[in-house]
Amino acid sequence: MTSVRSSAAASALHLIGNTRMVRLAGPSERTGCDIYGKCEFENPGGSVKDRAALFIVEDAERRGHLRPGGTVVEGTAGNTGIGIATVANAKGYRTIIVMPDNQSGEKMATLRALGAELVLVPPTKYADPEHFVHRSQRIAEERDNAVWAQQFDNVANRQAHVETTAAEIWAALDGRVDGFTCAAGTGGTIAGVGIGLKERRKDVVIALTDPHGAALYNYYAHGELKGEGSSVAEGIGQGRITGNLEGAPIDAQFRVSDEQAARAVFELNRQEGLCLGLSSGINVVGAELLARKLGPGHSVVTVLCDTGFRYLSTLWNPQWLREKGLPVPDWMDGQG
Ligand code: PMP
Repeated sequence: MTSVRSSAAASALHLIGNTRMVRLAGPSERTGCDIYGKCEFENPGGSVKDRAALFIVEDAERRGHLRPGGTVVEGTAGNTGIGIATVANAKGYRTIIVMPDNQSGEKMATLRALGAELVLVPPTKYADPEHFVHRSQRIAEERDNAVWAQQFDNVANRQAHVETTAAEIWAALDGRVDGFTCAAGTGGTIAGVGIGLKERRKDVVIALTDPHGAALYNYYAHGELKGEGSSVAEGIGQGRITGNLEGAPIDAQFRVSDEQAARAVFELNRQEGLCLGLSSGINVVGAELLARKLGPGHSVVTVLCDTGFRYLSTLWNPQWLREKGLPVPDWMDGQG
């Protein structure tokens, strides 16, 4: 059952990307399609954001904005911060992460463990100059030899997915890919994979899968940036057309609820042995919707963004699930 890889990576940075793809049996059988998940939890920082972090840092190096001993600054609480700290450690840079002080202790502990300097700010509106994004920009501007990663509008982010994720999907399936879908945070993944796959096959169908509360579903369906409802999924849900989303080749759009996503994640865990975060559930439900739209016999790919072990106090905690009105899987019922 196992496959043997025949080479050792030259450094931890070389462990980023070239993640494997896994056929998802339940979704494939229900739709008569082959539905694959790209295992982004295999990256050394544990998520899809390692790719963007590597490309953003190397782009800054090429432009001469970052020299040896420099600092990478970003306003983020999640996977991007972890990706940046991972890449910065491997390259000898320092990391400063500005985050709202209401973020989970797990995230702060993870970033501290990676040696990132944390700057905690009160959670405020984007228009406030003290908002974590603006504060991170100012810190980068004030420091010598520091760069602001600016993941939302820095297109080095989506370029990572054009050059690596899309190329890997194409190679893994020998070009037999009919559709791709995922949710958007910065939009780097959906835009970059979309552009990269369309370069190889013009009629591949690229679909955005939006959580409730995000504005992109309405934008691609009706041309209006408007959100309805809300979602507890972390890392996704966008209210504007970021620099990375500009010109993204989106052919179709779906909207998926947290409850649908949670049920998908629990099923993938119990039936397929994959413990994932909620954005992966949004993506897998979206992949099933895209497969139904294309019809039996097609190949659809999505992204398994990060591991469920990053969410033990939330998605994998029955008490939290009850508080959020989400279903509790039967094997966890009675545990809290
Ligand atoms: N899922 C998770 C858990 C994430 O942290 C992110 C990144 N914000 C995404 C999905 C979306 O990726 P992107 O920023 O490329 O749109």
